Amino acid sequence: MKRDLSVKEASDWIQEATPRLPAEMVSLFESLGQSLAEAVASPRDLPPSDCSAMDGFAVRAEDLVRAHSDQPVDLPVVFEIAAGGSPARPLAAGEVARIFTGAPLPRGADAVVRQEDTQSQGDRIRFTSAVPPREHVRDAGEDMRRGEEVLRAGARLGAAEIGVLASLGRSMVAVHRRPRVAILSGGDELVEVDGDLNGDRIVSSNSYSLAARCRELGAQPIYLGISKDDPQSVENQFRAALGADCVVSSAGVSVGDHDHVRPVLEKLGCNLEFWGVKMKPGYPLAFGRFDGGGLVFGLPGNPVSAFVTFEQFVRPSLLKMMGSERCFLASIRARLGEPLSKKVGRMHFVRVRLVREGQEWIATTTGNQSSGVMTSLAEADGLLIFPLEEENLNEGASVEVQILKRNWFSGQGPPL
Ligand code: AMP
Ligand code: MG
Repeated sequence: MKRDLSVKEASDWIQEATPRLPAEMVSLFESLGQSLAEAVASPRDLPPSDCSAMDGFAVRAEDLVRAHSDQPVDLPVVFEIAAGGSPARPLAAGEVARIFTGAPLPRGADAVVRQEDTQSQGDRIRFTSAVPPREHVRDAGEDMRRGEEVLRAGARLGAAEIGVLASLGRSMVAVHRRPRVAILSGGDELVEVDGDLNGDRIVSSNSYSLAARCRELGAQPIYLGISKDDPQSVENQFRAALGADCVVSSAGVSVGDHDHVRPVLEKLGCNLEFWGVKMKPGYPLAFGRFDGGGLVFGLPGNPVSAFVTFEQFVRPSLLKMMGSERCFLASIRARLGEPLSKKVGRMHFVRVRLVREGQEWIATTTGNQSSGVMTSLAEADGLLIFPLEEENLNEGASVEVQILKRNWFSGQGPPL
């Protein structure tokens, strides 16, 4: 078993060890957040034919070249085309057709004049200006061409992608299956969220925060409760997790007398590949693989350590399983609002708030950075990366901040 990896080494190791899960066909309605396991090409042109972008009149632009307010041109309306209808016949020179948004343009017509730019003159329509060809016309195939690849394999399905697939008539799509993630906790001090809180009991909050994060990513958490600090209880819990694609345990995998996880994992055929990552919070992280291929993450028990190591290692692994092209947290450059210092040898992930000042983001810490303090995590917009070999960061230094909150990019109001 390797020990003391850097964050980058551990991350590369895990990504290398992570398989993409097989594809399955799912209903388009259920596919939100999953990634395509197929490249999708359009079976047709969209729009299928030239059509009108406005309610108005389909015209031949050449009929109106001399139209002017001093010299209006009056032309007869020879038929009407609504959305979903089809033109009765081609438009001849000197004729116009009433047309509505989304209706196909008749052959012969090459532009649309908006209704509000015309005047009705009995059964004729008055035009007072020329119109360039293709004005207010949506060209056939301007969105997608038949045979053209419109979504890549690996594209994550958000609302826009789902709209594209729906417009192609795809009610079922091939996506990588959602990983089943067994969530385990362990410790004699732990109780369920509605358990008896007398004495020094601690609620197993990790089970909830980690399961919530799995859901946000589109993975399926399986809640396996709390084991006691005895080998049989730990073993029973891990046995229940055996069929999962990924086991996330925040029942300390370390070297203390009460840490039974390592021997149990070995007994169950899990090959522990490394232990210990040079980071803070989160040093005591273990990673292993079951013979059958399931991944095992032994996260530290402290709530912030569990969360931060989940974000750095479990999240990218789950997203890779789901076939996503982009697995890592987004980050921005910010300016440090206060000096920070630490010892060399570990990469620190500092909980920060981000505030906009002019063109820049200013990062300031959210308070107590102890690995047990969850409130400073809840207040954080992101994690500032304090590199392994650095000892001091001055106020005003340019720093990298990973964005934690999904809604962080949401604005405060409409554009001005
Ligand atoms: P351990 O890794 O078991 O040494 O635990 C380290 C610290 O994390 C202890 O203070 C535990 O009470 C706490 N802890 C362990 N597991 C959990 C959990 N599932 N939820 C909340 N706190 C936990
Ligand atoms: Mg413990």
